Amino acid sequence: MRPPVLDPLFAPVSSLNGVGPKIAKLLSDFIGFHPDREATVADLLFHLPSGLIDRRHRPGIAYSESGQIVTLDVTIDRHQAPPRESRAPYRITAFDDSGSITFVFFHPRRDWLMQMFPEGERRIVSGKVEWFNERPQMVHPDYVVSPEEAETMPALEPVYPLTAGLSPKTLQKAINSALERVPHLPEWLDAAWQSQNLWPELDDALETLHRPQEQEDLSPASPALSRLAYDELLASQLALAMVRATMRKLGGIARKPSGTLQRSVIDALPFALTGGQQSAIADINADLAEPVRMLRLLQGDVGAGKTVVALAALAQVVEAGGQGALMAPTEILARQHFASMTPICEKVGLRLALMTGKDTTRERRLTQEKLDAGEIDILVGTHALFQGTVTFKDLALVVVDEQHRFGVHQRLALSAKGRGVDVLVMTATPIPRTLLLSSFGDMDVSRLTDKPAGRKPIATVSVSLDRLEEIISRVRAAIGSGQKVYWVCPLVEESEKIDLAAVEDRHQVLEQVLGQRVSLVHGRMKADEKEAAMQSFKSSETRVLVATTVIEVGVDVPDATIIVIEHAERFGLAQLHQLRGRVGRGDKPSTCVLLYKGPLGETAGARLNIMRQTNDGFLIAEEDLKLRGGGEILGTRQSGTPGFRIANVEDHADLMEVARDDARLVLEKDPELKSERGQALRCLLYLFSRDEAIRLLRAG
Ligand code: ADP
Ligand code: MG
Repeated sequence: MRPPVLDPLFAPVSSLNGVGPKIAKLLSDFIGFHPDREATVADLLFHLPSGLIDRRHRPGIAYSESGQIVTLDVTIDRHQAPPRESRAPYRITAFDDSGSITFVFFHPRRDWLMQMFPEGERRIVSGKVEWFNERPQMVHPDYVVSPEEAETMPALEPVYPLTAGLSPKTLQKAINSALERVPHLPEWLDAAWQSQNLWPELDDALETLHRPQEQEDLSPASPALSRLAYDELLASQLALAMVRATMRKLGGIARKPSGTLQRSVIDALPFALTGGQQSAIADINADLAEPVRMLRLLQGDVGAGKTVVALAALAQVVEAGGQGALMAPTEILARQHFASMTPICEKVGLRLALMTGKDTTRERRLTQEKLDAGEIDILVGTHALFQGTVTFKDLALVVVDEQHRFGVHQRLALSAKGRGVDVLVMTATPIPRTLLLSSFGDMDVSRLTDKPAGRKPIATVSVSLDRLEEIISRVRAAIGSGQKVYWVCPLVEESEKIDLAAVEDRHQVLEQVLGQRVSLVHGRMKADEKEAAMQSFKSSETRVLVATTVIEVGVDVPDATIIVIEHAERFGLAQLHQLRGRVGRGDKPSTCVLLYKGPLGETAGARLNIMRQTNDGFLIAEEDLKLRGGGEILGTRQSGTPGFRIANVEDHADLMEVARDDARLVLEKDPELKSERGQALRCLLYLFSRDEAIRLLRAG
């Protein structure tokens, strides 16, 4: 059970001063960690200031820079009130030794202004200065006080990320009240490590971060923030290590077949394996032969040939008497895997089946019967495979394709479907090492760094949308010479309707201008409509496929040689790279056209430049990390590192490595967290809501 010392931190936010049901709901949506529960005092305390306003900055009117927050000691000159019915702002001029300034108010309460800014008197005014036409002004100052009251104005004010309806004042009040609740917790940090870093205790760290005295207190490298980031990283690494240890303890099954079936699969391929594919298969075979569970990530850029590695791995467990499953993130991909694997499986006698959400009850039942009877060797499907009631006779290996968002929870769910199930996760997203560590922990990795022989590089150009006609006529020429073209339009959730219209529009225009049928795929279509559209493009019945980003992952049409990405400025780097990987899969040179709508922002411009300069997915991932942070790479929307509230991979990469080693050592010495430090670490796991680990503690 949760250590009682934590109780004050797990109280709901509505128990805090000034937090009624409405604010509690706002806060829960905004900062809550569990979507279905009210945010807690701890959640609020982990909502850290993003900056600090220093009201001690008193440069004088003439020396105030535009955009800066300053405090001015002024004499009020006069009020310039607009006529009552006018919408013009109310202005008050004031001066000091260095110059004069205008305070500007919209929709003013006149008597209040008269009272606050009495003409001819001195006032201390603080707020943001802006210069227009070489004159300084301040719109709605933050503070106005008389010289006698100057002390009441806070010298330093933390600034928090806010959401609509949440005022800084309300939030500050709630946080002040939360700070009073912080208990003194047992220390979980290694004493030597803590003192070496001069890190404060947790309660002091929270105090420093919420009541900063200097800008530096909030910097990622400050002792207070480093400590909190380390705490979070340690909690995460400890949880991952515990899950991993449990999975290993549950035991794997040593599968050491002769390898005949795998060899016949490889022999049946119309090409020779790359070096990377060979060594990945060797890694996997070695894992499977061990009596511990495999948990391996297969990383390979788009088009690197991961599917073949998966098939070889599946063949290996099937020869050893088990069953395998391949899980794809979308139905299109599941069908595509099924279609591309079928010929080889037929040749070597592997019994392959497909299960999707579209199956009729009867089909589903039939498949289930065959699975139970062991008459299916490999089942291909969407992740629905593992949500429902599907059972296997002897599930030995699960391959998860392109699903880098796959979390620890799902991993545990998978292991429940069989005894000692081995897991292979395949991803085309070249996840940088630090990010890998943060989301998968200490996972084994095989990388396909070489591309299949004969691949031609993809030429990438960026072109303004103004030149659309030119691009269309080039597309016409290309299809005239027998080529095939993807045309991608963005689909962003917030403006889904508009974007959908844009895709349909583009589709119509292209059909008209090109004078032939063009395929269309978007997220609102039914699965069979999508499938039919993909099929006509694949079979070359149509030569152009207009699509939203549903084609992003894994779609394989080797003879497509051109991809046009419309509104390229709206895509992230990782996504652009994924999309570009749809071409360049055959032996013909390919082109990627990044069609952008100018003017380009700085980051968007940088992204398109990187795309033009390199095809190297790892390089792109590193650049992406620099430009946008980890969230973009893992495809999640929030900023910062997915799954983390305080730590982020850019600033705290070194700490991540230490936390990993720390967690490993702790579990070696004290696997059940029973020692004094172990008990304190239990608090840490609760504090950072590492539920998966907590569940293991309870079960243990
Ligand atoms: P991804 O890693 O993106 O999933 P796929 O497994 O879909 O890549 O493979 C891309 C294409 O490359 C497929 O058409 C596949 O048949 C082909 N391919 C895979 N391995 C090789 C190889 N060693 N030599 C030539 N072609 C290969
Ligand atoms: Mg693939």
